Amino acid sequence: MNNLNFSAGPGALPQAVLDETQRAIAMVPEAGLSLLGISHRSDWFAAVLAEAEANIRRLLDLSADYHVLFLHGGATLQFSMIPLLLLRGRTRTAEYLHTGYWSGKAIPEAQREGAVRVLWSGADSGFTRLPTDAELPCTADAAYLHYVSNETVEGLQFHRLPGRDDVARVCDMSSDFLGGPIDAGRFALIYAHAQKNLGPAGVTVVILHQDLLRDAPDDLHALLDYRNHIAAQSIFNTPPVFAIYVVLLVTRWLLRDIGGLAPMAQINRAKADLLYGAIDASDGFYRGRANATDRSLMNVVFNLPSPALDAEFLERAAAAGFHGLPGHRSLGGIRASIYNALTLDAAAALCEFMLDFRRRRS
Ligand code: PMP
Repeated sequence: MNNLNFSAGPGALPQAVLDETQRAIAMVPEAGLSLLGISHRSDWFAAVLAEAEANIRRLLDLSADYHVLFLHGGATLQFSMIPLLLLRGRTRTAEYLHTGYWSGKAIPEAQREGAVRVLWSGADSGFTRLPTDAELPCTADAAYLHYVSNETVEGLQFHRLPGRDDVARVCDMSSDFLGGPIDAGRFALIYAHAQKNLGPAGVTVVILHQDLLRDAPDDLHALLDYRNHIAAQSIFNTPPVFAIYVVLLVTRWLLRDIGGLAPMAQINRAKADLLYGAIDASDGFYRGRANATDRSLMNVVFNLPSPALDAEFLERAAAAGFHGLPGHRSLGGIRASIYNALTLDAAAALCEFMLDFRRRRS
């Protein structure tokens, strides 16, 4: 039995990280206590936060103009905190791309705070593709542009940066953060919850450029004001110590075991090539959902010729130890999530299973 974790999130974590986490739950040697019972005000945790931040800065080659925060509330809270900071009480319009399920969740939250223009929506095409640059009428006077770099549900990923460099680019990278190098300096704000590439649920990394804080509204609830989290260095209230520690371990793994984001991207590309290759070579038995140029390297979404075959595939896959493959509840079908920690061997094993299943069924 393989027991491989293709879950869309919380997803697979590197085995070395799981092993070390297990030891830390028993006892963190430097602290002499269980990871689950160490104060967030301890020197040990101050060092954890500092190293996690430093590692993220190093991985992304971030300049000192950016703040790095570890916040609660998931990516969903960022759907609100961003317009609270950048739209509340302003006359300018925020531009949003509606490319799938998750970007669609961000839009109504922004509309509570001010004017929103949806520059492009994939609703008519069933969210099977992303817009081209020619389809995006971005304007120079927008308050900011918000988009989702990887639509986790539909398996669509931007392989370029949409938008203009003279407008604040705000991106939900929850499902592809640290999956490969990015040009971080071209973003005003990046956010990513941990439970895909980074760690367990409970913490969201927010990277924001200091210029965004100019003219921040003064009437924000304390916990919703980035300035408080910056001033308190992510300890404004009790942070998720456990989740942040695991994020630290994952960043160490990326730096030491993988060698940074360029090699990580190569591995991710190889996994995706295997799975999309199996889909494309199946004579239509496996049907990829996304337009080929917009295919996600993180979530491979596909169907079989009938819902009955989808169900049979999922049942047999689970029995063979391939877990987390059912598509999002809104779509059905199959979704193989191949985040950073999912190994090339695991992707190859799933390809084998797909080949075998097709041989028996077609
Ligand atoms: N954005 C994206 C791209 C997601 O994939 C998800 C959840 N899978 C969310 C936002 C919502 O995240 P959370 O549950 O952490 O609020």
